[in-house]
Amino acid sequence: MLIVMRTDATAEEVDSVCRAVREAKLTPHPIPGKSRTAIGVTGNLAPVDPGAFAGLPGVIEVIRVTRPFKLTNREMKPEDTIVHVRAGHCSNKPVAGGGPVDIGGPEIVVIAGPCSVESHEQTIGVAAELKRLGAHILRGGAFKPRTSPYAFQGLGAEGLKILAEASTQTGLPIVSELMATDDTQLIEQHVDIIQIGARNMQNYALLKRAGRSKHPVFLKRGMSSTLEEFLLAAEYVMSEGNRNVILCERGIRAFSDYSRFTLDLSIVPELKRITHLPVIVDPSHAAGKRDLVIPLARAAIAAGADGVMVEVHTNPKKALSDAAQALTLDMFAAMMDDLRLLAPALHRRLGS
Ligand code: PEP
Ligand code: MN
Repeated sequence: MLIVMRTDATAEEVDSVCRAVREAKLTPHPIPGKSRTAIGVTGNLAPVDPGAFAGLPGVIEVIRVTRPFKLTNREMKPEDTIVHVRAGHCSNKPVAGGGPVDIGGPEIVVIAGPCSVESHEQTIGVAAELKRLGAHILRGGAFKPRTSPYAFQGLGAEGLKILAEASTQTGLPIVSELMATDDTQLIEQHVDIIQIGARNMQNYALLKRAGRSKHPVFLKRGMSSTLEEFLLAAEYVMSEGNRNVILCERGIRAFSDYSRFTLDLSIVPELKRITHLPVIVDPSHAAGKRDLVIPLARAAIAAGADGVMVEVHTNPKKALSDAAQALTLDMFAAMMDDLRLLAPALHRRLGS
């Protein structure tokens, strides 16, 4: 349910409606908008009588939200959510020249970096090149969810330190994956955006913990998840209080025998229609091979994505994970040229 306040409602009126919601054993979520505040109500196991709140001072309308996802729903918040990211901001160590980067606004955002943080030299080297070529955010896994327990598992805490140093040197904010709730504080100290990977999209303890973090959450769609399951995973994060969720389509399992996964681009305009959250597309994990990545990145932007996440390696042949899908630096530069040309045709810009 959504309680819409009058444009001239006072802060006290908003507070007293929130109090009434709590007294009804429900949870209020005030959502300030451009002209008015709305209060999302969650926690009801059965339909709530709208009449209980419709007559309260300052309330103009009470709307039933019928879909199971509430806080992610555009009916609750018609305006796009723009997630503001700054290098070092979340750990209270702002980095010179570090942003801000707005995700979900008019500018298309490019997140790039290696699959895994492999070494100091590799990460610092690729970060400097990516910055020069116009990337906005650096990615890199320190904790890696690998299919085989014998595959390279990431450098862990050491990898996070390297990422933080790459951020300090380049001003690029960092996104890196959180795999276990116990590592949350460690991740929070070193990165600016917490990634929840496809394999953990339904790890509800992890989603709840990320929901209590002050860091934005980059949530990847599970490889066999429906749109509703995806948005309910985002709802887990948001219902714990974290409003800064970025959705990422990264390919789903279908019957393709030529690509790693099938990039489900039709979910992009559908997500943009029914949620207010930013939507990023990861063509690298979907494709599994580098030659497909640039055309899919172009298609993602054309379909309305707010940006792309791509894997890039200075020497893909030597990459310790996902070598086949890593773009070379030359390919990354070519992709940036394409997106720069494409953006104005879509009334967007490629941020500088
Ligand atoms: C990643 O982005 O590092 C990753 C492991 O991707 P996914 O969770 O989509 O497989
Ligand atoms: Mn990867």
